[in-house]
Formats: sequence, C-alpha cells, structure tokens
Amino acid sequence: MIRLDGLGKRYPDGTVAVAELDMAVRRGELVALVGPSGCGKSTTLRMVNRLIEPTSGRIVLDGDDVTDVSAVELRRRIGYVIQQVGLFPHLTVGDNVATVPRLLGWDKKRQRERTAEMLDLVGLPAKTYADRYPHELSGGQQQRIGVARGLAADPDVLLMDEPFGAVDPIARDRLQGEFRRIQSELHKTVLFVTHDVDEAVRLADRIAVFSQGGKLEQFADPATVLGA
Ligand code: ADP
Ligand code: ADP
Repeated sequence: MIRLDGLGKRYPDGTVAVAELDMAVRRGELVALVGPSGCGKSTTLRMVNRLIEPTSGRIVLDGDDVTDVSAVELRRRIGYVIQQVGLFPHLTVGDNVATVPRLLGWDKKRQRERTAEMLDLVGLPAKTYADRYPHELSGGQQQRIGVARGLAADPDVLLMDEPFGAVDPIARDRLQGEFRRIQSELHKTVLFVTHDVDEAVRLADRIAVFSQGGKLEQFADPATVLGA
C-alpha cells in the first residue's frame, strides 16, 4: 500500500534527519512511529505528505510513484491530522472539516453532506457543532474535529502526528478508544507518530522504532517490540 524506498532527508544545514528508509505498510494497517525526540519521525510523515521534499528515495502509494505528484493531488489520497490540533481559528468547525473537499473543488452540496457525515462519525453532530468556532470546544473535541477533517476527503491513507498528545489523560483514553472504533469501521491505512509507547502498543498493528539519525531499528508487532 505505502512503500518507502530509500527515503531520506538531509536539511540544508547538513542535519541528516532521516537516513535511507525502507518500509512497506500494508493496506488497512495501523503503524506507529516511535523513538526519541529528534529521530526523524515527523520528518518522515511530512515527506510522505510532501510538506517536505525528500533528498533521496521514492514514495510509492498503491503501486503509483507519488514522489513527484502535486500536493493537491496528494491531499485526495492522504489525510493529515497534526499535533496540537491545528484547526483554523477563524473558520467554523464545518468549514474546518470541509477544508480539503473545498480545496479539491467538490460542489457545496457534497461538501455539506460529507462534513455532516464526518461530524457524526466523531460524535459531534453538525446540527450542534458545525457553526461553532474551535475555541468554543474542549481540547478533546477539537482533536476529534481534527480527525474528522483528516478523513473528510475519504483518503486511503491517514497520517497523524501526535494526534492525541495535547489532551488530558482521560480524554486521551476516550479518544484512543474512539479512534479504534473509527479505524475498524473505515479500514484506513494509518501512519501515526507518538512519543507514548503505551499508545503505540494499544493502537498499532505494527510499531516502527526509530533511532537518532532517522534509522529504522525495528519494525514489528507490539508484542515483539515489547519483548525486545
Ligand atoms: P522527531 O519527529 O522524531 O522528533 P524530527 O523529524 O522533527 O524528529 O527531526 C529530526 C531531526 O531533524 C532533528 O535533529 C531536528 O533537529 C532536525 N530538523 C527538523 N527540522 C529541521 C529543519 N527545518 N532544519 C534543520 N534541521 C531540522
Ligand atoms: P462558504 O463558507 O465557502 O461560503 P458555506 O458556508 O456554505 O460556504 O460552507 C462551506 C463548507 O463548510 C461547506 O462545504 C460545508 O461542508 C461546511 N459547513 C459549514 N456549515 C455547515 C453546517 N452547518 N453543516 C454542515 N456543513 C457545514
């Protein structure tokens, strides 16, 4: 489904954030990227999403080499949920969720239907929430809106960078449970970054353990990683 072939990033200042990374993720698989701060997890996600240009290697999605496709084309296939939510504060919840569909030029009716569907999915019905602004919601609710936005264009792949990092432990626990439910319904291929090993073990089918310099030390199921 997603194949990274020798993917690497050296920043202009010479920092090698990600060494040549080879990784293959199956369709519908939930993969956690873990490792110490600065080991290249975010850089890897951002390269897959083309927010950062790789300096070497290829990204292959479902057999298509997407290393050089346009960012807009990629938004259709890859959803993104960022750290600390990252909702647009001046847009309503509904407009936030509809960000990518609007970018892709969906007609208004389809945008509205899809937005309502996504808000239902994350338990925040449009009738009550679509016209509110992000600051009117709790951190956990904002995080759920972030997930709804990431899924709005029905991408095959969802990338999440510390998706549950910014909320308190109780809300996090609930969100993780809800995310599992959503995932078992939609079977997206998910890559997510976390510094929380418990979260990785709880959610992931496989865990990719990075070490400093963006090297992949281990890529295995949670039991194997814990036993190592
Ligand atoms: P992680 O997500 O695992 O914490 P990052 O991918 O953010 O790691 O960073 C990997 C390495 O690249 C770190 O050493 C970091 O300091 C460095 N880095 C990140 N962004 C830049 C940048 N824009 N310019 C130079 N170095 C960077
Ligand atoms: P614009 O802001 O572009 O003038 P609209 O306000 O009609 O257009 O909606 C923009 C997008 O935000 C729509 O595509 C829709 O999906 C979403 N949206 C806004 N408000 C709602 C709502 N109350 N219910 C569902 N979706 C909404």
